[in-house]
Amino acid sequence: MQIKAAVVREKFAPFTVETLTLDEPRADELLVRIVGVGVCHTDMVVRDQGYPVPLPLVLGHEGSGIVERVGANVKTLKPGDHVVLSYASCGHCANCLSGAPGYCDTFYERNFGGQRPDGSKPYQDGHGHAVCGCFFNQSSFGTHALVSERNAIKIPKDVPLELMGPLGCGIQTGAGAIINALKPGVGSSIAIFGTGSVGLSAVMAAKAVGCTQIIAVDMNDGRLELARELGATETINPGATDTLEQIRALSGGGVQFSLECTSHPKVLRQAVDCLRIPGVCGLVGAAPLGTEVALDMNTVLFGRTLRGIIEGDSVPQVFIPQLIELWRAGRFPFDRLVKYYDLNDINQAVADSESGVVLKPILKP
Ligand SMILES: [Zn+2]
Ligand SMILES: [Zn+2]
Repeated sequence: MQIKAAVVREKFAPFTVETLTLDEPRADELLVRIVGVGVCHTDMVVRDQGYPVPLPLVLGHEGSGIVERVGANVKTLKPGDHVVLSYASCGHCANCLSGAPGYCDTFYERNFGGQRPDGSKPYQDGHGHAVCGCFFNQSSFGTHALVSERNAIKIPKDVPLELMGPLGCGIQTGAGAIINALKPGVGSSIAIFGTGSVGLSAVMAAKAVGCTQIIAVDMNDGRLELARELGATETINPGATDTLEQIRALSGGGVQFSLECTSHPKVLRQAVDCLRIPGVCGLVGAAPLGTEVALDMNTVLFGRTLRGIIEGDSVPQVFIPQLIELWRAGRFPFDRLVKYYDLNDINQAVADSESGVVLKPILKP
């Protein structure tokens, strides 16, 4: 079938919206008509080939839409179902079976391979040339996407479908880091470094689970203001003050938890150094491969923990419906982060996201 999709043809090049031919769904695939798709930092990292997914390529990994057709082996979803598309995992390795699909043995190939596991590519362009896809097993920057049963999460039909796509990656990453991974108790303290869409999702989640001190750190005063509206009890702009000194003063010596969402090694060090004993620092910011960090070994030795967190440690089939109920109850207002764009305006949406004007662009095909 003919579809419209945004294609990256060269490193650093703008997206071009093209007509492509998409394969028919195979027995284990579903065809989803996309109604909304969030733009995530990882899309830009791959456009710029920070991860070397082959080009030309259709990106997009925060899609939401309506199931149009299902292959013969698809059992749990049917045409007309509303779905949020999340990351891919195999379902049968030890980590998947242990409820940790974000750490699937084949996570990289399935999400960043640019093709199906058998090496086939799902699109042809107007000249009959193959175009890569299957990004996070969806490539949802288009009117339609081929996905699997495992990464299409059925959601209720009485919530705005076009809003829900970002739950599949960025929003669940920030919220899950708090709710699933760090699990701060009621009355605890946390410092969150970086208040983009991931950090602000963490702020909202920290408030929802009962943290009573939520310190947000960012260079952008506008974002800090929004962080306060969403639940931060204190904010720090590192340009104006000594961040560590201030966190220690505000928290009586250090916070119990911290979360690093900026990908900067110096910020990660602060996120560890600002902990009291014992304390746990979560790392969700993705830095270029090979990035190293300097830590005082004794800071960690004295009972502090540093742990990495992928996709918020979430099982999407379980966690995304939970976030939707939290949103419905008014306790997780992630709609405050969103601005809608037409798919044809994808380059404007990306520019607004990169400049920080907009926290979470959502494209509507
Ligand atoms: Zn697996
Ligand atoms: Zn993402």
